[in-house]
Amino acid sequence: MKKPFETVRVITLRANAEPEAVSAQLQKLGLWLEPLQSGSERGFLVLEHSLPVLPHEILEIPGVSQVFTRPSEHPLCDRQEPISINGFELGSAPCLIVGPCAVESKEQLERAAENIAAVKSLFSHDTAKFGQVILRGGAFKPRTSPYSFAGLGEKALSWLKEVGEKHQFAVVTEVVSELNVKLVADYADMLQIGARNMQNFALLRAAGKAGRPLLLKRLPGSKIEDWLLAAEHALCAGSPGVVFCERGQSGSDPHTRNLLDLAAVAVLKELYGLPVLVDPSHGVGRRDLIPKLCAAACAAGADGVMIEYHPTPETAQSDGAQSVTKEDLRKIVTALSRGWACAHD
Ligand code: PEP
Ligand code: MN
Repeated sequence: MKKPFETVRVITLRANAEPEAVSAQLQKLGLWLEPLQSGSERGFLVLEHSLPVLPHEILEIPGVSQVFTRPSEHPLCDRQEPISINGFELGSAPCLIVGPCAVESKEQLERAAENIAAVKSLFSHDTAKFGQVILRGGAFKPRTSPYSFAGLGEKALSWLKEVGEKHQFAVVTEVVSELNVKLVADYADMLQIGARNMQNFALLRAAGKAGRPLLLKRLPGSKIEDWLLAAEHALCAGSPGVVFCERGQSGSDPHTRNLLDLAAVAVLKELYGLPVLVDPSHGVGRRDLIPKLCAAACAAGADGVMIEYHPTPETAQSDGAQSVTKEDLRKIVTALSRGWACAHD
């Protein structure tokens, strides 16, 4: 994997170079080219979808004169170090973030955590290396309708912390306003920036200063470059790390809630070597497809998944249809290790 801190745009040739011979060498490296002639200067324009190649590799080819590059606009993001959450290094084993869409009561969260803890023990018995389980649950919920349940706020945060500590789960929860960043960071180990807030730059900067790693969900319809730049905002403000989370793009088919973009996951991992998770729950909106998509996510290079689980999905205040059952959680653990094996063995 080559980190493209700079993108090669133009390659010029020496006066005595044979363009066909140089072009053949460049194509072997995975570059797609268009001939370029500017006055007496000859060379090539490097086209989209070329593989990342380092300038020095091109300069070694006989006949090449100069390589012109465009620097990355998100240098801090490109250079991110591996991220640890409560001592677990993301990427070292499959990570499962799981819990209810929204924290609805202390009893609901406790029951969810007990069932998740039972599944956590499966990880250690599974053939895969031990994976990390992180508890999720919304205390502040961004809702499309102002009349929908929007979370229980600080009360829910305190239950998350208490239940997380009891079961030794790190906790991730969403922050929806820069006014609440400090409050949420007092209770959570990781702060989630929801899809709708991916380009809320004031929130990104405030969350970046909170001293907690961020989980940055992707705004449907946004380009990967916009997602990387959003992370750069938080990193510029001092964030210790940003983990990306693909959660589905707007699609046109009603069978699934969204269109899960696993190609973007492969791009972030292969091209940029960045930490990335997949949220198939919001990606497809229905529980029956989730175990298979967990396997696919890890096979595409994801470091793990974020799943909505509710002890009684039929009573859920939000996202019941996509909340998996305890039985599904077992299938998910197996799916994660199988998908992980595809990408790592
Ligand atoms: C969530 O994770 O509960 C959520 C609201 O997700 P998103 O921001 O991806 O819609
Ligand atoms: Mn949800």
